[in-house]
Amino acid sequence: MHTEAPLITVHDVTVVYRHEPALDSVSLTVRAGERLAIIGPNGAGKSTLLKAIMGLIQYQRGTIHVEGGRQRLGYVAQHNEVDWSFPVSVLDTVLMGMWREMGWLRMPGRPQRSRALQALARVGLQEVAGRQVGELSGGQRRRVFLARALAQQADCLLLDEPFSGVDVGAEQELLEVLLRLNGEGITLLLCTHDLEQAREHFHSVLALRNHVIACGSPQQVFTRDTLTAMYGRRALAYDMNGQPTTVYIDEHGCHDD
Ligand code: ADP
Ligand code: MG
Repeated sequence: MHTEAPLITVHDVTVVYRHEPALDSVSLTVRAGERLAIIGPNGAGKSTLLKAIMGLIQYQRGTIHVEGGRQRLGYVAQHNEVDWSFPVSVLDTVLMGMWREMGWLRMPGRPQRSRALQALARVGLQEVAGRQVGELSGGQRRRVFLARALAQQADCLLLDEPFSGVDVGAEQELLEVLLRLNGEGITLLLCTHDLEQAREHFHSVLALRNHVIACGSPQQVFTRDTLTAMYGRRALAYDMNGQPTTVYIDEHGCHDD
């Protein structure tokens, strides 16, 4: 259990884009060093929550506090929000993330380049620093964006579905990198559709469906009631013996259906 001080405190935040709230009175605490997964169906407000925490969108109600300020946070957007046809090297992609400290028109100096290369080494990409981003595999590209966030000296990463659209091998690789970074003290807040992974590898889980359905340890969150409230019955997975594989986490067992 994490007893560390709160790093991000979201209190009673409501975001309305048009009519229906994308986030309805959402509260959440992320502690330093924690691995917290946000789960929820499409349209549940997962991306909106990350963007609100990053200060990228307005919220109509509530407060968000980041201890030490937002410069601690590194954001990795959902990958379909990134244009891959742009011809740019891996190293330059990481350096471009550092404009905040350099100013838009400054050329990166030696300290920035060396920090960018270190960040690439932390995600296992030092060998491909000179390659074009467009030539990399999907999994490697995700890691370029991790390096970019790290090079900004972020110690908390907000990742929007970092595993979507990569194959299982790349997913495993990326997960290992993330777990290693967490071991080095990086706090992780990520949205995922992979419930097994959230259950297995995260300290806490936020189940979101525009409002908070449940938040706590995987054992507290992965109950039949929560999953049914989130996805309806169709989301329940069964193994070959007809036993539910995703819902079994309820401490009383969930073997009926
Ligand atoms: P998720 O990431 O869980 O799929 P989103 O945060 O993207 O959910 O979206 C939550 C809700 O807000 C959805 O109903 C979506 O259509 C709506 N929404 C998201 N972004 C915008 C926007 N820029 N303008 C209008 N509606 C939006
Ligand atoms: Mg999203």
